[in-house]
Amino acid sequence: MSQKVDFHCHSTASDGVLSPAQLLERAICAGVDCLALTDHDTVAGTRWLVEKGVPESIQLISGCELSTVWGTREIHIVALGFELDNPDVQDFLTSQGRARWQRCERIADKVSRRLQDYTEEQCLEGALEQARLAQRSTDESFTLPDSEIQVGRPHFASWMVQEGITADRNTAFDKYLSAKRIGNAKQFWPHMADAVQAVLSWGAVPVLAHPGRYRMTGMKLQEVIRAFSAAGGQAMEVLGCQQPRGERETMARYCEKFDLHASMGSDFHGPWNDYVELGRLGPLPETCRSVTELLERD
Ligand code: AMP
Ligand code: MN
Ligand code: MN
Ligand code: MN
Repeated sequence: MSQKVDFHCHSTASDGVLSPAQLLERAICAGVDCLALTDHDTVAGTRWLVEKGVPESIQLISGCELSTVWGTREIHIVALGFELDNPDVQDFLTSQGRARWQRCERIADKVSRRLQDYTEEQCLEGALEQARLAQRSTDESFTLPDSEIQVGRPHFASWMVQEGITADRNTAFDKYLSAKRIGNAKQFWPHMADAVQAVLSWGAVPVLAHPGRYRMTGMKLQEVIRAFSAAGGQAMEVLGCQQPRGERETMARYCEKFDLHASMGSDFHGPWNDYVELGRLGPLPETCRSVTELLERD
């Protein structure tokens, strides 16, 4: 029987707009058999679901999307299939949380210099409040303490819209928060190869996330994939939503060339785009070996 899987999505534990329970419910309604909730740098959502109990109609794989750097580029690595209570996982994610907060302070500092009407503290508190609000306004039963909230650029974007600084979140990214502008504060993240090694040490599968979205030439992207594979990376996302024509075939070729399994994930953040939906991923190209083979080992 063919399985409907989705190994990349976000809840209000990071920058998604559905609570973990709402997301799980939506995945079940969409006919997903196997889901990984891969919030940015946290497993708080997955942990909460496991504590509440996951219905038998769906399998939940532990997952997380890690922010890392390779040279001057920010690269995302999805980790799949680890023990939530592994202390090494917890240590790594605590360190990611600290890096994320330092990065937020840096972004707030730069934003406040650009927008002279606001102090760094106001920008930072504004973004944090947006993250709290996203949780509270969605599902009162899932709210994290401030120390566990993963504040990111999307929360700064929401704050800018609320303050009337920009008309919408996209403009906030274009004008202030993109990697070419103030959002370029990646020096806090671990090196990609170190993150891959950490994931392997947990007995989990390191997956290169959304390779088609790094805005690189084909040559540069292949350099990243080669480095990822050489560091011990095992899989790469081949299927996503809203991919340009031919992308999945190109990624399938890179999988063969760099000896990687193929993963699949919608990168769903919220129900605002009909083309991005949990589990709506199409078939893998025939040459691909699915990442599920690696998750089924032992
Ligand atoms: P961060 O984890 O703080 O680096 O924020 C990255 C997240 O911001 C991504 O996972 C996307 O959800 C979102 N994002 C990145 N670029 C844009 C953009 N141009 N417009 C809207 N959202 C974006
Ligand atoms: Mn995101
Ligand atoms: Mn990402
Ligand atoms: Mn993502």
